[in-house]
Amino acid sequence: MIRRLRTRIIVFVVALLALVQVVAFVTVTSANSELRELTSSPVAVAAFDRLEQTLAALGAISMLLSMGGAIVIAMDITRPITQLTEAAARMQDGDYSKPVSLPRSDEIGALANSLNHMRECIAEREQEILHLAYRDTLTDLANRVLFHDRLEHAIVNAKRTGRTLSVLMMDLDRFKYVNDSLGHGVGDHVLREVAQRLSDLLRQADTIARLGGDEFAILLENVDERYVTRVALKIQHALEQPIDYEDQLLDVGSSIGIAHFPEHGENIGTLLRNADISMYVAKRNKSGHAVYDVSYDTHQQKHLSLLSEIRQAVEGNQLRVYYQPKISLATSTVEGVEALLRWDHPRRGFIPPGDFIPFAEHTGYIKVLTRWVLEQAVRQCGQWRTAGIPLRVAVNISARDLLNRELPEFIARLLDRCDTPASLLCLEITESGFMEDAAHSQRVLEQLSALGVRLSIDDYGTGYSSLSYIARLPVDELKIDRSFINQMSDPTTATIVRSTIDLGHSLGLQVVAEGVEDENDLRTLRQFGCDQAQGYFMSRPLPARELEEWLRHSSWNCVGTKTAKSSSPAPTLLPSFSGAR
Ligand code: C2E
Ligand code: MG
Ligand code: MG
Repeated sequence: MIRRLRTRIIVFVVALLALVQVVAFVTVTSANSELRELTSSPVAVAAFDRLEQTLAALGAISMLLSMGGAIVIAMDITRPITQLTEAAARMQDGDYSKPVSLPRSDEIGALANSLNHMRECIAEREQEILHLAYRDTLTDLANRVLFHDRLEHAIVNAKRTGRTLSVLMMDLDRFKYVNDSLGHGVGDHVLREVAQRLSDLLRQADTIARLGGDEFAILLENVDERYVTRVALKIQHALEQPIDYEDQLLDVGSSIGIAHFPEHGENIGTLLRNADISMYVAKRNKSGHAVYDVSYDTHQQKHLSLLSEIRQAVEGNQLRVYYQPKISLATSTVEGVEALLRWDHPRRGFIPPGDFIPFAEHTGYIKVLTRWVLEQAVRQCGQWRTAGIPLRVAVNISARDLLNRELPEFIARLLDRCDTPASLLCLEITESGFMEDAAHSQRVLEQLSALGVRLSIDDYGTGYSSLSYIARLPVDELKIDRSFINQMSDPTTATIVRSTIDLGHSLGLQVVAEGVEDENDLRTLRQFGCDQAQGYFMSRPLPARELEEWLRHSSWNCVGTKTAKSSSPAPTLLPSFSGAR
C-alpha cells in the first residue's frame, strides 16, 4: 500500500517535470526551425543550436534532479509511515516493549506520539490485568493460578534434569478466631504480616503463594530434604512471634505439611493433596510441621469408612444418649444433666464422641446427629418432667448447627411436640463455635434465646474470645473448661478460675465447672462461689434409666423432689459407676 503510494508520487512528479521539459524543448526546437527559415546567418543558427543543446542538457539535468527530489520526498513520507505500520504490527502481536522513535514536529510526529502513548497505556493495562490474574491483591504474593503454573514448570524441569522440588502447604492455626472476633481489618493485617515474614525468610527464587483465606503454599526448587525441614522450622519460629496490631499482640501460629517430588507425587494434584494431608496431620498433632507419609492416607481412609458408618448408625439404632448430672453448689441439688452422645458400634464397641463428632462436623452430617440427640434429649426431658423430675437437659450444639437457619424452628416444634418448656432445654456451644460465622451465629442465637432456651458457652478458656465479646451474646451460662478445673492445685490456675467466676457473675452469667474429679475441686469451687459443678466425682455420664437409679440412691438432692436427702453439701461417697463409660 505504502509502496504503491510512493511509486504513484514518483511517477506523477517525473511525468510532470518531463512534460514541462518536453514543452520547453518543443518550443525551442520549433523556434529554432522557424529561425532557420527566416535567416541564413550561420552565426544566428549556431547560437540557437547551442541554446537548444543547453536547454536539452538543462532539461535532462533538471529531470534527473526532479526525479531524485521526487524519490527523496516520497521516501521522507513513506519511511515514517512504514515505521508506524511496523510499530502497530508489533502491538498487534502483543509486543509493547519498543517505542516508535520519530522526533518530528509535523503530523507524522504527532501520530507517532499518540501511538507511543497508546502503546504505554495498553502495556500498563496489560500489566495490571496480568497482576490481577496472577497475584493475590491483599499480600501481593503469587495466587493459586501462578502457583500451579510455576509448579507445573518446576515438575517438567525436575523430570528433565533430575533435580528436586518440594511443596509446603501452610495454614494459620488461630486465624479464624482473630478474623472473626477482631474483624476483617485485623485479619488482613495479619495476612499481610505473614506474607512479609515469609518473603523475608525465603529466597528470591522460591515461589510463595496465598491460595485463599489463611492458606499459603511454598515451592522450593533444587533443595534437599534437610534444607526443606530447616525452612519449615524457620517459618514456624517466625510465625510464633506475636503479630503487633495497634499495640495488641496477636498469636496466630502455623501448621505446615510437606511433600517432596518425586517420592510423594509426580504431578501437581498428588503433590498438593499430600502436602495438604500432611498439614492436617501437623495441625491435629500440634507438631508444627509434618512430612507426608503413606500411613496418613490409611488414616484418612479409616476416617472415610467411619463416616460412611456414621450414616448407618442413626438408622441402625447404634447411637445412645448418656446423661451426666449438673449440680448446684449452693443447694447440693441435681438441677440438670448434660446429654452426651455415645456410639455403640457393632464391631468397634463404644466409640467416644471425640472420635466421630469432628468428622461429622467436617462433612456436615452433624446436622443429622444434632437433630437426633435433640429429639432424644427433649423427649427424655419431657418424660422426667411428667414424672416430677424437672431436670434441665443440656445438649451440645456444633458451630455448623448455628449456621442452620432452621434450627430455632425445629427446636420450637420439638419442644411443643414433647410438651416441654423451653426453659428446660439448654444448648451448649463451644467457645470457638460462636466464632465460625459470628454475625450469622448471633442471629440464630438470638432466635433461640427468644424461644426461652438457655444458652451456655462450653469449654470456656480454650478459645480466643474475650468476656466482653461474650457479654454481647445472648448467653446465660459459662462452662469453664475441665483443663482449668483439673489444674486448680496450681495457684495461678486457681486464680484464673476464681477471676473467671467473678467476671462471669459480673456479666450476669451463671458459671459451671466441668471435670470435677475430687472433693477438693468441689470445695474450692464452692469457696470461689461457682454456681454448678459437673464431673466424675458426682457421676460419670449414664444411660437415662441408670441415671434415675443414681438419682434415687445418691446423696445429692434432686430438683422437684420434696425432701432433701442429705444435709451434707459434699458427699464423700462416690456414686455408683455401673454402666458408665
Ligand atoms: P463437653 O460438652 O465438654 O462434655 C464434657 C466431656 O467431659 C464429656 O466427654 C464428659 O464425659 C467429660 N467429663 C465429664 N466429667 C469429667 C471428669 O470429671 N473428668 C474428665 N476427664 N472428663 C469428664 P465426652 O462425653 O467424651 O464428650 C466429649 C465432647 O464431645 C463433649 O465435650 C462435646 O463437645 C462433644 N459431644 C458429646 N456429645 C455431643 C453431641 O451430642 N453433639 C455434639 N455436637 N457434641 C457432642
Ligand atoms: Mg458440653
Ligand atoms: Mg465442655
